[in-house]
Amino acid sequence: MKKFDIFVLPFTIGLAFILAYTVIMYVRWIAGLSPIDKLKLRANFIKTLPRSLKEIVMESLFHRKIYKKNFLLGYMHMSFAFGWLMLIVIGNIQSHLYSRDIINPPYYPIFYKFFEPYPMPFATYKVFEFIMDFLLLYILSGVFLAYIKRIRSRLLGMQSTTRHIFADRMTLTSLWLIFPLRLLAESFTSHHRGEFLTGTLYRFFSGFLPVHHMAYPFWWAYSIALGVFFLSLPLSRYMHIITEPLLIILRNAGIKTYKEFKTYTDVELNACSRCGICIDACQMSTAARIRTVQPVYFLRDTRYRRLTPSLANHCLLCGRCNEACPVGIDQVALRIIKRKDFTLSPAYYEYIPSRQVTRAPVLYFAGCMTHLTPSIIIAMKEIFARAGEKVSWMDENGSICCGRPLIFSGNIESARVLMKKNKDLIEQSGASLLVTSCPICYRTFREDYRLRIPVMHHTQYIYQLIKEGKLKAEKTAVSTVYHDPCELGRGCGIYDEPREVLKQYATLVSSPSERNNALCCGGSLGNSEIPHERREMITRDATLQLLSTGADYLVTSCPLCKKTFSRFSPAVIDIAQVVAGQWNSLPPAQRKNELAGTMVEQ
Ligand code: SF4
Ligand code: SF4
Repeated sequence: MKKFDIFVLPFTIGLAFILAYTVIMYVRWIAGLSPIDKLKLRANFIKTLPRSLKEIVMESLFHRKIYKKNFLLGYMHMSFAFGWLMLIVIGNIQSHLYSRDIINPPYYPIFYKFFEPYPMPFATYKVFEFIMDFLLLYILSGVFLAYIKRIRSRLLGMQSTTRHIFADRMTLTSLWLIFPLRLLAESFTSHHRGEFLTGTLYRFFSGFLPVHHMAYPFWWAYSIALGVFFLSLPLSRYMHIITEPLLIILRNAGIKTYKEFKTYTDVELNACSRCGICIDACQMSTAARIRTVQPVYFLRDTRYRRLTPSLANHCLLCGRCNEACPVGIDQVALRIIKRKDFTLSPAYYEYIPSRQVTRAPVLYFAGCMTHLTPSIIIAMKEIFARAGEKVSWMDENGSICCGRPLIFSGNIESARVLMKKNKDLIEQSGASLLVTSCPICYRTFREDYRLRIPVMHHTQYIYQLIKEGKLKAEKTAVSTVYHDPCELGRGCGIYDEPREVLKQYATLVSSPSERNNALCCGGSLGNSEIPHERREMITRDATLQLLSTGADYLVTSCPLCKKTFSRFSPAVIDIAQVVAGQWNSLPPAQRKNELAGTMVEQ
């Protein structure tokens, strides 16, 4: 029986190349891990293998996270990944069962119908033929959805689709051609004995086309499409197919994005499938119509070493895209790392005079933004007094920066100098607890200072005071909607304490955009590129969405969010003000129609 034809060469060369390339890249990546990461991998690999395998199946094959967000998109991705894998697996079983040889060359199952055009006289063979036709139809339905997505993404529930570079287009075209070409090659070869799909097509085309003469060129075309796909894959977004399993294994072993560009970061860059889901998750796209700066483009340009400072800096660092990304890429951390490359002149802070702080069990740090929002300072003083807490203020007579804005801008060295001064002050206070009102400062103290004492955001601290009976809450008839600040919610996972506090004082109305799906207020210090009017569009949209819940007040727990939202509604209040009973002096929310497009006079 014939088992070779020259047309199999493009596929065979492509397959050999991609297998060798995958092995080389895996060895390079694993060898390039830092000694600590290697230790983590060695210690946790076997332990976490079942979890990793499950995740690879659920996410890389079934695309569970995408399914949850968008059924059609999930179906499309699954048809390619799972459908193609099954076509290979079932094809291998079929060719192995019905071939007279134990070992077949790798191309043999792929072009099985070329080498075995006549069906075997077994009932099971018919079942295999049916399954193979069914799988091909399943994948082709995904190809059809992919065409639609590219032409009109809204039909698949996406506001926009990713703009591709040349390598992506070439690989995408070959991928889209592979399955229609296989269908036609198999149909033209099947004579009248093909199954429900290939047999029907044969009968249809043979009525007006010389299909017997056309079969061989189509086998060639199919093989070339496969070869081009494999050869161009490393240059394209489809690199994610071979990278994502490694990313899952490394992540489950405890390796993550650190503060520098490391091997894991490189794996993350290559694991981005450019699915574009992050574009729709980003308020810069949905509210401000900025659709060229989202992670998909940032990661792509970083991978191809053509990142510009304006793209690196054009992000609110709100983390909504991190939550939405089906691959789990921490693009916020990657942006901060890359911004370091574009920091021109580090600013130094040695000139800042040394400060003194009085000793007390609790040290309070208001933060720059809280100083610009005096109502929160007044509220915190009231709360400390009512609870009878002995508190020392770290920055009562003038604000000090925690250092995070410098980290956001990539100015890490300057941030370190500033943080050292603050850390000395904290240690000098002898406090056993540091409290802050600003989520940005809270996260920085928690993650970057390595303090010996615990840090609390004021929502956590107030909740503790209530639980200890030091603060007496009085419930009112007011309804509130709570806005999770990005740094406190997605950044630090503090979702429950603010809600527990609020429920003691008012009715809490839920909103579709809360917890890890919370909206950014638009005021983030992380984006130095966004034009002012686009920022306003984001804030206006977020204010409208939150107040359209019908709540009387929009409550937040961040001075920056409060200040930003207050530009569009007077009924915005910090949780500390609620506890201090300040809200009686504020008017309840204007309703949606009154609010639309108006700004509050400052
Ligand atoms: S960053 Fe994540 S969501 Fe965005 S394109 Fe890449 S894989 Fe998709
Ligand atoms: S962090 Fe926020 S602003 Fe930046 S790309 Fe992601 S969703 Fe958009």
